[in-house]
Amino acid sequence: MKLILLGAPGAGKGTVAKMLTELDGSVQISTGDILRGAVKAGTDLGKEAKGYMDAGDLVPDALIMGIMGERLQEDDCKQGFLLDGFPRTIPQAEELKTLLADLGITLDMAVSLDVPRDVILDRLTTRRTCSNSECQAIYNTKSNPTKVEGVCDKCGSPTIQRDDETEEAISNRLETYNEKTAPLVGFYEKEGMLLSVNATSSDAVVSAIQEAIK
Ligand code: AMP
Repeated sequence: MKLILLGAPGAGKGTVAKMLTELDGSVQISTGDILRGAVKAGTDLGKEAKGYMDAGDLVPDALIMGIMGERLQEDDCKQGFLLDGFPRTIPQAEELKTLLADLGITLDMAVSLDVPRDVILDRLTTRRTCSNSECQAIYNTKSNPTKVEGVCDKCGSPTIQRDDETEEAISNRLETYNEKTAPLVGFYEKEGMLLSVNATSSDAVVSAIQEAIK
């Protein structure tokens, strides 16, 4: 499947994307994961992106489009892809439309994961992520804790709270989301390709997507 996953930080895009990859071999493409990998590796891209990310601001569109223009042409995308955290602005969505048309790729739909703000806030402050960039498993200290505190169940690496999951950065990320990313729901509705789902449960989201894609 070829999907865009839309939703506020903490709506569960990453969790749903990981569940969907198990169904048909589609790859998860998370611009956040790509950027965090670049920061960790200390590349020029990472150095440029870090300040924006730590503050909870968006990285400039041109940087993101450069990454995605290359990523979508890699072989593993042929089987399908789940765009997690991209596009994030109307200009990115417009450029993506042109890019996909140039590459001859048709999307199945854009799925909006709708979650109430209080649930989002609670999820973000209790989220923990595996520090191993090859793994990046996601946990929650309340609803999905690791078996041993602070240790990833899958690979044994330490689990961490992301740098942008301080209260200040979270509140900035949510504001940025409302201002810059929420308008994408209307954009994809106009394109006739929007599926809105109540995303309080990730299992229910996956079932709704499977049903809609049939
Ligand atoms: P995420 O893991 O998707 O929450 O992304 C973490 C951070 O990476 C965001 O707060 C932004 O600083 C940056 N980022 C990720 N994806 C994008 C994007 N499509 N456009 C601009 N910035 C992005």
